[in-house]
Amino acid sequence: MPIISPLIPYHFFRAAWAFRYLRGDGLRRYQDARARRIIAFARARSPFYREHWHGLDERDWRDFPTIDKAAMMANFDTFNTQSITQDEAFAVALRAERERDFAPTISKGGGNITVGLSSGTSGHRGAFLVSPPETAAWAGTVLQRVLHTLPRRGYRVAFFLRSNSNLYERVGGRVRFRYFDLMTQITEQIAALNDYAPNLIVAPPSLLTALADAASRGNLRARPEKIVSVAETLEAHDKTVLETAFGVAVGQIYQCTEGFLAATCPHGRLHVNEDLVALQYEPLPGSATMPPSAKQVSPVVTDLWRRTQPIIRYRLGDILTLANAPCPCESDFQVIESVGGRCDDLCYFPDVATGEPRRFYPDTVRRMVLLADSAKQVSPVIADYAAIQTAPGNLSVHLAVTGNADFAAVETAVRVSIAQVLAQYHCRAERIEVIEGLPPTAPGAKRRRIINRGERPPEERAI
Ligand SMILES: [Zn+2]
Repeated sequence: MPIISPLIPYHFFRAAWAFRYLRGDGLRRYQDARARRIIAFARARSPFYREHWHGLDERDWRDFPTIDKAAMMANFDTFNTQSITQDEAFAVALRAERERDFAPTISKGGGNITVGLSSGTSGHRGAFLVSPPETAAWAGTVLQRVLHTLPRRGYRVAFFLRSNSNLYERVGGRVRFRYFDLMTQITEQIAALNDYAPNLIVAPPSLLTALADAASRGNLRARPEKIVSVAETLEAHDKTVLETAFGVAVGQIYQCTEGFLAATCPHGRLHVNEDLVALQYEPLPGSATMPPSAKQVSPVVTDLWRRTQPIIRYRLGDILTLANAPCPCESDFQVIESVGGRCDDLCYFPDVATGEPRRFYPDTVRRMVLLADSAKQVSPVIADYAAIQTAPGNLSVHLAVTGNADFAAVETAVRVSIAQVLAQYHCRAERIEVIEGLPPTAPGAKRRRIINRGERPPEERAI
């Protein structure tokens, strides 16, 4: 059942105004005023935060102690402002997941609080609580940031998500907003899309590439005017594949259950939603032994609107590369050059001279694999890949190659490329494995191509 909330158009126009006019000191004052309101509210209603900030002056919120997912889940019952227990939240969410009914809510304080579960890239499941006004704020803002102009009446959006929650489906009015379940079979998804004929498809790149394949074989007849990637890292080569297959520009939403963090502007650049979240930036964990080529940081998130489960000074653990130059769209919102994976997925290889482990960003590991493809100046033969480190110095590269490619030749090229990139940084590998075919993944699981399953080296762990 769609709900038509006046908060959706309100947030659409607020978001349009903010993107254009909030800048410089005005933006800083806006974030400061909103953060202090949320903090005062959290202090009054969340026993966890009250204790966490004991004796601190809220004017100094930018220096408050940080939190992370582990702290949030460990203190779930006192962290949220609606006295919802973790047992209650998980019971509702898991029952909904089993029954695939996508409407897990808990009635509290006169409203239905939606419960969402996040799978979590580091294996910890998180539970997230959102109220109807928060859902409306999200919907209005996401529409503005994705479409940039008011959609015409009857505009149809197809939103694919793994999350078993109704967080994203109860939007109505001018725009039809239909939720698609990532867990269903691709053939069913294609049939549903052909029937629905969306103007806009929002989905993770792993699903979008499957849809692109279906479009090129003529099975997917829906011709969206716009494609937006969400939930997984959008790699440059995936973007090219998608733009070629659909003949439209591919935008990007950087969103996680902790907040709607960034979206691409009409110039295709990813701007932080500075009117929704105040991001602060920290250096990546450990000392930088390899000078980064650009400004690589990890964000600390303060959500300026969410009250049910306030997110204040939350360490996200993602690796961002920030752009220095302003964007031609003239918005003052910070531009993110790229979202380069998780801090947990930094990989390590020993220095040739000292034997000490040195850090490699997920982006660099990605380059090791994909350079093998482009270096030979042949048409790309690596259809997909995953690189997994289980101990410093080791790397298992899983490759899916295109139909007629010679796997042995691709394997050699990948080994040469890895050796070359490591040599550039005066490092070496202990053991490299190249395996044909991708590792098995759970259906609907978030795709991660660079994964560190090993221990961090002791000197990194200490920090
Ligand atoms: Zn821009």
